Amino acid sequence: MAPKNPVYGPVEVVQDEGSAPTEDDTVTATNDDDPDMPATAEVPPRDVTAKSQPGDASKDRTRIVWRNVVLMAALHVISVYAFLCLTWKCRPYTLLFAVGMSLCSGLGITAGAHRLWAHRCYKAKLPLRLVLAMFNCMAFQNDIYEWSRDHRVHHKYSETDADPHNATRGFFFSHVGWLLVRKHPKVIEKGSRIDLRDLIDDPVVRYQRKYYLPLMTFFCFVMPTIVPMYLWGESFWNAFCVPTVLRYCFLLNCTWMVNSAAHLWGSQPYDRFINPAENRFVAFFAIGEGWHNYHHTFPWDYKAGEWGWRINFTTIFIDLMTAIGQVSDRKIVTKATISARKKRTGLQVAAVGCD
Ligand SMILES: [Zn+2]
Ligand SMILES: [Zn+2]
Repeated sequence: MAPKNPVYGPVEVVQDEGSAPTEDDTVTATNDDDPDMPATAEVPPRDVTAKSQPGDASKDRTRIVWRNVVLMAALHVISVYAFLCLTWKCRPYTLLFAVGMSLCSGLGITAGAHRLWAHRCYKAKLPLRLVLAMFNCMAFQNDIYEWSRDHRVHHKYSETDADPHNATRGFFFSHVGWLLVRKHPKVIEKGSRIDLRDLIDDPVVRYQRKYYLPLMTFFCFVMPTIVPMYLWGESFWNAFCVPTVLRYCFLLNCTWMVNSAAHLWGSQPYDRFINPAENRFVAFFAIGEGWHNYHHTFPWDYKAGEWGWRINFTTIFIDLMTAIGQVSDRKIVTKATISARKKRTGLQVAAVGCD
């Protein structure tokens, strides 16, 4: 029987004996009496065997994909132009619509691809899974299957060559550079071994992947352009540039900041042996995904942070969905476990001068 959390309602407490992020942690965290969940339906244990060796440098590391460079450059040029020259010309409804689209497409990544599908932090009923899959199409960051696979690889091989956006290669690479070059061979090699059967078993994930191109084209580009035009008479150019291109570019950068800024700057109160950090700025723009030291320490916690609703719109959304019966089996970590872990591996104030 799940205990009752006074703030968030019934939740599933996942025990962690306060140990380092070992294989045991993962097993405990995910095989929590859930017969529907395959043993491998979660972020695998962290593995640092993909660290580069001297002389390992491969040409593949920096083989530039010029098509992506041109597309990304065009996207950002149009977005800067839209922000500076068009936002003040738009109708107020268009700006409100752009904000709403940003939140919805953001949730398609944070509540959907990240916390639901990549980490299995909670269970969602079919209607919510369909809505999140639609939101995910609006965000155009590859389909749920591919996003979740890359993210599981990111957690398992964090800060190694097998990490798709390895932050030890600097801010630019972990922010956007990783999308402008060919994947490192170790990303492909290790990624092909990640178990994704739970994703294939979800018909929503399969359907979204099968029809991704038309669905993404419609929800990310066509729909946000035609809705302002036909519902309140916005011009085509404003509707295409602001709630479509600028909104898309803004959301991409908010997501990328989790991989770059939150892996480089911030505090490490839970685990000082990893780079991911607590970063309020990222938490705000990534609607709750900036509490990244906590998240990499306890990746199964549906809040992706210790502080519940504090700068965490995604957690608010998941709790609201729980209230209307769309979400169940949210996993959390007990306060006792968190404080034991903080004492054991967290960066203590007194330890700062010693490191
Ligand atoms: Zn990370
Ligand atoms: Zn994650």
